[in-house]
Amino acid sequence: MNAGGISRVVLASHNAGKLAELRPLLAPLGLQLVAQGELGITEADEPFHTFLENALAKARHAARASGLPALADDAGLCVDAFGGEPGVDTANYATRFGYDKADGNNVRALLEQMAGISNRRAALVSTLVALRHADDPEPLVAVGRVVGEITQAPRGQGGFGFDPVMFLPEFGKTFAELPVHVKNAHSHRGRAAAAMVRLMRERWL
Ligand code: IMP
Repeated sequence: MNAGGISRVVLASHNAGKLAELRPLLAPLGLQLVAQGELGITEADEPFHTFLENALAKARHAARASGLPALADDAGLCVDAFGGEPGVDTANYATRFGYDKADGNNVRALLEQMAGISNRRAALVSTLVALRHADDPEPLVAVGRVVGEITQAPRGQGGFGFDPVMFLPEFGKTFAELPVHVKNAHSHRGRAAAAMVRLMRERWL
């Protein structure tokens, strides 16, 4: 227990890849991190047009259902050639083209839509929002962003989502080809989490 009386925080996600990355990133806080699924909490609706609003909705839903502080991540892929799309709708991207919702189908749909496009620049973005309780008037907000190039074909077995097609020129590899600790040190989520750890230490703990 710390000065703010906080010892447990709910992670407002069902995404196994995200949870696996967030746990070591937040470990320096020394808090007990509980996935919302372990508490039987369902997924929140994400009806908004910004990552910030959707992350806030997810954190508020988990905080209200659990009675605990909550932290949520809303993330997505913003492709330059598509004017920043699919953005907040990244998780459902494949369904626009008649595929079922799944990471593999998202990658397939993206590569199909980018066939013949030479500008392959894209950013992965992560917005983290933390609340002490559902009606917390002062949410903590941290944003991280990483820019890369969408490959012509998937490469690597690690990570999740668009990692097999997200090529980082400084490493000459996709995120899926990098060990998780290297991805975490350089990723959108890693950058957002580092900022969130600083904020929580300063304001909550
Ligand atoms: P949401 O934040 O749960 O709405 O998911 C956003 C979408 O972005 C999902 O399709 C994820 O697979 C994808 N995504 C989120 N984080 C990453 C990442 O670190 N690498 C690759 N894809 C990601």
